[in-house]
Amino acid sequence: ERKKSGRNGITIFDQQQKQQLSRRNYVAECLREVLRTDGLDVAFQAQVDLQTGRHLGFEALARWSHQQETISPAEFIPISDEFGLSADIDLQVLKKSLKRIRLLKDAGLDPGRVAVNLGTLTLRDTALPERVKDLLDKHGLNASDIEIEVTESVMIGRGHEKVKGNLLSLQRLGVSVALDDFGTGYASLTHLKDFCVDKIKIDRAFVSEIASDRSDEMIVKTIISLARSLNIRVVGEGIETEVQAKMLAGYGCHAGQGFRFHRPDVCLESIGRYLKGSVSPPTGGA
Ligand code: C2E
Ligand code: MG
Ligand code: MG
Ligand code: MG
Repeated sequence: ERKKSGRNGITIFDQQQKQQLSRRNYVAECLREVLRTDGLDVAFQAQVDLQTGRHLGFEALARWSHQQETISPAEFIPISDEFGLSADIDLQVLKKSLKRIRLLKDAGLDPGRVAVNLGTLTLRDTALPERVKDLLDKHGLNASDIEIEVTESVMIGRGHEKVKGNLLSLQRLGVSVALDDFGTGYASLTHLKDFCVDKIKIDRAFVSEIASDRSDEMIVKTIISLARSLNIRVVGEGIETEVQAKMLAGYGCHAGQGFRFHRPDVCLESIGRYLKGSVSPPTGGA
Protein backbone atom coordinates (compact mmCIF):
# COMPACT_ATOMS: atom_id res chain seq x y z
CA GLU A 1 0.00 0.00 0.00
CA ARG A 2 1.35 3.39 -0.96
CA LYS A 3 0.87 6.04 1.67
CA LYS A 4 3.12 8.70 0.19
CA SER A 5 1.60 11.03 -2.33
CA GLY A 6 4.75 10.40 -4.35
CA ARG A 7 5.44 11.49 -7.87
CA ASN A 8 2.48 9.96 -9.60
CA GLY A 9 -0.09 11.81 -7.48
CA ILE A 10 -2.61 9.06 -8.08
CA THR A 11 -3.16 8.37 -4.41
CA ILE A 12 -4.02 11.97 -3.70
CA PHE A 13 -6.41 12.11 -6.63
CA ASP A 14 -8.28 9.03 -5.42
CA GLN A 15 -8.54 10.48 -1.95
CA GLN A 16 -9.98 13.70 -3.31
CA GLN A 17 -12.49 11.88 -5.46
CA LYS A 18 -13.54 9.79 -2.51
CA GLN A 19 -14.00 12.86 -0.37
CA GLN A 20 -16.03 14.62 -3.03
CA LEU A 21 -18.20 11.59 -3.47
CA SER A 22 -18.92 11.22 0.20
CA ARG A 23 -19.58 14.95 0.52
CA ARG A 24 -22.15 14.68 -2.26
CA ASN A 25 -23.81 11.70 -0.64
CA TYR A 26 -23.78 13.46 2.69
CA VAL A 27 -25.30 16.65 1.27
CA ALA A 28 -27.99 14.68 -0.58
CA GLU A 29 -28.86 12.76 2.57
CA CYS A 30 -29.24 15.95 4.64
CA LEU A 31 -31.14 17.60 1.83
CA ARG A 32 -33.71 14.78 1.83
CA GLU A 33 -34.25 15.40 5.50
CA VAL A 34 -34.54 19.17 5.20
CA LEU A 35 -37.04 18.79 2.36
CA ARG A 36 -39.08 16.31 4.37
CA THR A 37 -39.31 18.76 7.26
CA ASP A 38 -39.99 21.79 5.06
CA GLY A 39 -36.80 23.29 6.44
CA LEU A 40 -35.43 25.30 3.53
CA ASP A 41 -35.38 29.07 3.85
CA VAL A 42 -36.05 31.56 1.11
CA ALA A 43 -34.20 34.83 0.63
CA PHE A 44 -35.65 37.70 -1.38
CA GLN A 45 -33.36 40.01 -3.34
CA ALA A 46 -34.80 43.16 -4.87
CA GLN A 47 -34.76 44.12 -8.53
CA VAL A 48 -34.88 47.84 -9.22
CA ASP A 49 -35.59 50.01 -12.22
CA LEU A 50 -32.15 51.24 -13.26
CA GLN A 51 -33.52 54.39 -14.81
CA THR A 52 -35.68 55.54 -11.89
CA GLY A 53 -34.50 53.54 -8.89
CA ARG A 54 -38.05 52.32 -8.34
CA HIS A 55 -38.62 48.88 -6.80
CA LEU A 56 -39.77 46.31 -9.37
CA GLY A 57 -39.80 42.96 -7.65
CA PHE A 58 -37.69 40.28 -6.02
CA GLU A 59 -35.85 37.12 -6.88
CA ALA A 60 -36.46 34.24 -4.48
CA LEU A 61 -33.30 32.29 -3.64
CA ALA A 62 -33.13 29.02 -1.71
CA ARG A 63 -31.19 29.18 1.56
CA TRP A 64 -30.11 26.27 3.68
CA SER A 65 -28.56 26.50 7.10
CA HIS A 66 -27.32 23.12 8.15
CA GLN A 67 -26.05 22.79 11.71
CA GLN A 68 -23.46 25.56 12.00
CA GLU A 69 -22.86 26.08 8.30
CA THR A 70 -24.81 27.54 5.45
CA ILE A 71 -24.59 25.42 2.37
CA SER A 72 -24.74 27.48 -0.80
CA PRO A 73 -27.28 26.73 -3.53
CA ALA A 74 -24.32 26.81 -5.89
CA GLU A 75 -23.31 23.56 -4.18
CA PHE A 76 -26.61 21.91 -3.29
CA ILE A 77 -28.64 22.68 -6.43
CA PRO A 78 -26.35 20.64 -8.73
CA ILE A 79 -26.30 17.83 -6.16
CA SER A 80 -30.09 17.93 -5.86
CA ASP A 81 -30.32 17.58 -9.63
CA GLU A 82 -28.10 14.57 -9.59
CA PHE A 83 -30.14 12.91 -6.85
CA GLY A 84 -33.53 13.82 -8.30
CA LEU A 85 -34.37 16.23 -5.47
CA SER A 86 -34.36 19.55 -7.28
CA ALA A 87 -38.07 19.56 -8.13
CA ASP A 88 -38.85 19.30 -4.43
CA ILE A 89 -36.59 22.25 -3.71
CA ASP A 90 -38.19 24.34 -6.44
CA LEU A 91 -41.66 23.55 -5.20
CA GLN A 92 -40.82 24.35 -1.60
CA VAL A 93 -39.26 27.67 -2.60
CA LEU A 94 -42.27 28.46 -4.78
CA LYS A 95 -44.74 27.70 -1.98
CA LYS A 96 -42.82 29.69 0.58
CA SER A 97 -42.47 32.60 -1.82
CA LEU A 98 -46.22 32.67 -2.49
CA LYS A 99 -46.90 32.59 1.22
CA ARG A 100 -44.56 35.50 1.70
CA ILE A 101 -46.10 37.54 -1.13
CA ARG A 102 -49.47 36.97 0.54
CA LEU A 103 -48.16 38.17 3.91
CA LEU A 104 -46.56 41.27 2.42
CA LYS A 105 -49.76 42.13 0.55
CA ASP A 106 -51.81 41.56 3.68
CA ALA A 107 -49.55 44.09 5.38
CA GLY A 108 -50.47 46.61 2.69
CA LEU A 109 -47.18 46.33 0.84
CA ASP A 110 -46.54 45.69 -2.84
CA PRO A 111 -43.62 43.30 -3.39
CA GLY A 112 -43.93 43.50 -7.19
CA ARG A 113 -43.22 40.42 -9.27
CA VAL A 114 -41.35 37.68 -7.45
CA ALA A 115 -39.12 35.50 -9.61
CA VAL A 116 -38.60 31.85 -8.74
CA ASN A 117 -35.83 29.71 -10.22
CA LEU A 118 -37.03 26.44 -11.72
CA GLY A 119 -34.72 23.65 -12.87
CA THR A 120 -35.11 21.15 -15.69
CA LEU A 121 -36.72 18.45 -13.56
CA THR A 122 -39.47 20.83 -12.49
CA LEU A 123 -39.96 22.25 -15.95
CA ARG A 124 -40.36 18.87 -17.63
CA ASP A 125 -43.33 17.92 -15.48
CA THR A 126 -46.46 18.35 -17.59
CA ALA A 127 -48.49 19.01 -14.43
CA LEU A 128 -46.49 22.17 -13.70
CA PRO A 129 -48.79 24.88 -15.13
CA GLU A 130 -51.80 23.40 -13.38
CA ARG A 131 -49.92 23.11 -10.13
CA VAL A 132 -48.72 26.70 -10.31
CA LYS A 133 -52.25 27.87 -11.06
CA ASP A 134 -53.63 25.92 -8.08
CA LEU A 135 -51.01 27.35 -5.76
CA LEU A 136 -51.69 30.89 -6.96
CA ASP A 137 -55.42 30.39 -6.39
CA LYS A 138 -54.83 28.90 -2.99
CA HIS A 139 -52.95 32.03 -1.94
CA GLY A 140 -55.34 34.40 -3.66
CA LEU A 141 -52.59 35.61 -6.00
CA ASN A 142 -52.40 36.42 -9.70
CA ALA A 143 -50.10 35.02 -12.33
CA SER A 144 -48.72 38.52 -12.70
CA ASP A 145 -47.39 38.27 -9.14
CA ILE A 146 -44.72 35.81 -10.21
CA GLU A 147 -42.01 35.13 -12.74
CA ILE A 148 -40.15 31.96 -13.63
CA GLU A 149 -36.37 32.04 -14.13
CA VAL A 150 -34.84 29.39 -16.33
CA THR A 151 -31.29 28.90 -17.54
CA GLU A 152 -30.33 28.31 -21.12
CA SER A 153 -29.63 24.64 -20.39
CA VAL A 154 -33.36 23.83 -20.07
CA MET A 155 -33.82 24.83 -23.70
CA ILE A 156 -31.70 22.03 -25.03
CA GLY A 157 -31.51 18.30 -24.61
CA ARG A 158 -34.05 15.74 -23.57
CA GLY A 159 -37.49 17.06 -22.76
CA HIS A 160 -37.00 20.55 -24.12
CA GLU A 161 -40.28 20.34 -26.03
CA LYS A 162 -42.11 19.69 -22.78
CA VAL A 163 -40.30 22.59 -21.18
CA LYS A 164 -41.30 24.82 -24.05
CA GLY A 165 -44.95 23.77 -23.77
CA ASN A 166 -44.98 24.37 -20.03
CA LEU A 167 -43.41 27.80 -20.29
CA LEU A 168 -45.91 28.77 -22.96
CA SER A 169 -48.83 27.63 -20.80
CA LEU A 170 -47.46 29.59 -17.86
CA GLN A 171 -47.07 32.67 -20.04
CA ARG A 172 -50.66 32.30 -21.23
CA LEU A 173 -51.70 32.44 -17.59
CA GLY A 174 -49.72 35.66 -17.20
CA VAL A 175 -46.58 34.36 -15.53
CA SER A 176 -43.52 35.98 -17.08
CA VAL A 177 -40.41 34.05 -18.05
CA ALA A 178 -36.85 35.25 -17.56
CA LEU A 179 -33.74 33.72 -19.09
CA ASP A 180 -31.15 33.56 -16.31
CA ASP A 181 -27.35 33.76 -16.54
CA PHE A 182 -27.57 34.91 -20.13
CA GLY A 183 -24.34 34.62 -22.07
CA THR A 184 -22.75 31.85 -20.01
CA GLY A 185 -24.63 28.91 -21.48
CA TYR A 186 -24.33 27.40 -24.90
CA ALA A 187 -27.83 27.95 -26.15
CA SER A 188 -27.99 29.65 -29.49
CA LEU A 189 -29.72 32.93 -30.16
CA THR A 190 -32.55 31.15 -31.98
CA HIS A 191 -33.75 29.95 -28.58
CA LEU A 192 -34.59 33.53 -27.73
CA LYS A 193 -37.07 33.44 -30.57
CA ASP A 194 -38.30 29.89 -30.02
CA PHE A 195 -38.89 30.26 -26.34
CA CYS A 196 -40.33 33.77 -26.37
CA VAL A 197 -38.78 34.86 -23.10
CA ASP A 198 -40.04 38.10 -21.55
CA LYS A 199 -36.77 38.97 -19.89
CA ILE A 200 -33.05 38.34 -20.10
CA LYS A 201 -30.75 38.44 -17.08
CA ILE A 202 -27.17 39.30 -17.97
CA ASP A 203 -24.88 37.08 -15.95
CA ARG A 204 -22.82 38.53 -13.15
CA ALA A 205 -19.65 37.28 -14.85
CA PHE A 206 -20.02 40.03 -17.47
CA VAL A 207 -21.32 42.69 -15.12
CA SER A 208 -18.52 42.37 -12.59
CA GLU A 209 -15.82 43.32 -15.13
CA ILE A 210 -17.88 45.79 -17.11
CA ALA A 211 -15.81 48.76 -15.97
CA SER A 212 -12.41 47.10 -16.35
CA ASP A 213 -12.72 44.74 -19.29
CA ARG A 214 -13.43 46.21 -22.68
CA SER A 215 -14.75 42.94 -24.17
CA ASP A 216 -17.15 42.42 -21.28
CA GLU A 217 -18.35 45.97 -21.72
CA MET A 218 -19.00 45.38 -25.42
CA ILE A 219 -20.71 42.04 -24.77
CA VAL A 220 -23.03 43.64 -22.22
CA LYS A 221 -23.76 46.56 -24.52
CA THR A 222 -24.60 44.16 -27.34
CA ILE A 223 -26.84 41.94 -25.19
CA ILE A 224 -28.77 45.03 -24.06
CA SER A 225 -29.31 46.33 -27.55
CA LEU A 226 -30.24 42.86 -28.81
CA ALA A 227 -32.78 42.50 -26.01
CA ARG A 228 -34.20 45.95 -26.60
CA SER A 229 -34.59 45.42 -30.32
CA LEU A 230 -36.39 42.13 -29.67
CA ASN A 231 -38.66 43.88 -27.16
CA ILE A 232 -37.32 41.81 -24.30
CA ARG A 233 -36.72 43.34 -20.88
CA VAL A 234 -33.14 43.16 -19.67
CA VAL A 235 -31.76 42.92 -16.14
CA GLY A 236 -28.15 43.21 -15.02
CA GLU A 237 -27.23 40.71 -12.31
CA GLY A 238 -24.64 41.00 -9.57
CA ILE A 239 -24.37 44.79 -9.60
CA GLU A 240 -22.06 45.73 -6.75
CA THR A 241 -20.95 49.26 -7.56
CA GLU A 242 -22.42 52.57 -8.59
CA VAL A 243 -20.16 52.61 -11.65
CA GLN A 244 -21.58 49.28 -12.86
CA ALA A 245 -25.15 50.51 -12.28
CA LYS A 246 -24.49 53.73 -14.19
CA MET A 247 -22.85 51.99 -17.14
CA LEU A 248 -25.71 49.52 -17.46
CA ALA A 249 -28.30 52.27 -17.15
CA GLY A 250 -26.44 54.26 -19.79
CA TYR A 251 -26.63 51.36 -22.24
CA GLY A 252 -30.38 51.17 -21.73
CA CYS A 253 -30.55 48.23 -19.35
CA HIS A 254 -34.02 48.29 -17.77
CA ALA A 255 -33.40 46.76 -14.39
CA GLY A 256 -30.69 45.79 -11.96
CA GLN A 257 -30.11 43.37 -9.15
CA GLY A 258 -27.15 43.06 -6.83
CA PHE A 259 -25.56 43.92 -3.52
CA ARG A 260 -25.43 47.58 -4.61
CA PHE A 261 -29.20 47.72 -4.18
CA HIS A 262 -30.18 44.93 -1.83
CA ARG A 263 -28.63 41.84 -0.28
CA PRO A 264 -30.64 38.60 -0.40
CA ASP A 265 -32.66 38.68 2.81
CA VAL A 266 -34.53 35.86 4.55
CA CYS A 267 -36.16 38.01 7.20
CA LEU A 268 -39.75 38.95 6.36
CA GLU A 269 -39.77 41.94 8.70
CA SER A 270 -36.72 43.52 7.15
CA ILE A 271 -38.05 42.84 3.66
CA GLY A 272 -41.16 44.70 4.76
CA ARG A 273 -39.03 47.57 6.05
CA TYR A 274 -37.14 47.63 2.78
CA LEU A 275 -40.42 47.93 0.87
CA LYS A 276 -41.72 50.68 3.11
CA GLY A 277 -38.54 52.62 2.68
CA SER A 278 -37.85 51.47 -0.86
CA VAL A 279 -35.14 54.06 -0.80
CA SER A 280 -32.71 52.89 -3.45
CA PRO A 281 -31.55 56.13 -5.05
CA PRO A 282 -31.92 56.57 -8.78
CA THR A 283 -28.75 55.67 -10.61
CA GLY A 284 -28.60 59.15 -12.00
CA GLY A 285 -27.18 60.36 -8.70
CA ALA A 286 -28.69 62.38 -5.86
P1 C2E B 1 -28.96 32.91 -9.90
O1 C2E B 1 -30.39 32.56 -10.12
O2 C2E B 1 -28.21 33.49 -11.03
O3 C2E B 1 -28.95 33.84 -8.63
C1 C2E B 1 -28.10 34.94 -8.47
C2 C2E B 1 -26.97 34.60 -7.52
O4 C2E B 1 -26.09 35.73 -7.42
C3 C2E B 1 -27.43 34.31 -6.10
O5 C2E B 1 -26.52 33.34 -5.58
C4 C2E B 1 -27.24 35.66 -5.41
O6 C2E B 1 -27.10 35.54 -4.00
C5 C2E B 1 -25.98 36.12 -6.07
N1 C2E B 1 -25.83 37.59 -6.07
C6 C2E B 1 -26.79 38.53 -6.17
N2 C2E B 1 -26.27 39.76 -6.20
C7 C2E B 1 -24.94 39.63 -6.12
C8 C2E B 1 -23.82 40.56 -6.10
O7 C2E B 1 -23.98 41.79 -6.20
N3 C2E B 1 -22.58 40.02 -6.02
C9 C2E B 1 -22.37 38.68 -5.91
N4 C2E B 1 -21.10 38.26 -5.80
N5 C2E B 1 -23.37 37.77 -5.94
C10 C2E B 1 -24.64 38.26 -6.04
P2 C2E B 1 -27.04 32.10 -4.77
O8 C2E B 1 -28.18 32.51 -3.91
O9 C2E B 1 -25.85 31.47 -4.17
O10 C2E B 1 -27.64 31.16 -5.88
C11 C2E B 1 -26.82 30.52 -6.82
C12 C2E B 1 -27.65 29.85 -7.89
O11 C2E B 1 -28.38 28.77 -7.33
C13 C2E B 1 -28.72 30.76 -8.49
O12 C2E B 1 -28.14 31.60 -9.44
C14 C2E B 1 -29.66 29.73 -9.08
O13 C2E B 1 -29.18 29.28 -10.33
C15 C2E B 1 -29.56 28.59 -8.08
N6 C2E B 1 -30.74 28.61 -7.20
C16 C2E B 1 -30.95 29.34 -6.06
N7 C2E B 1 -32.18 29.07 -5.55
C17 C2E B 1 -32.75 28.15 -6.38
C18 C2E B 1 -34.03 27.46 -6.39
O14 C2E B 1 -34.89 27.64 -5.55
N8 C2E B 1 -34.23 26.59 -7.42
C19 C2E B 1 -33.30 26.36 -8.40
N9 C2E B 1 -33.59 25.49 -9.36
N10 C2E B 1 -32.13 27.00 -8.43
C20 C2E B 1 -31.84 27.87 -7.42
MG1 MG C 1 -31.92 33.33 -10.92
MG1 MG D 1 -28.41 34.45 -12.62
MG1 MG E 1 -26.59 31.53 -11.53
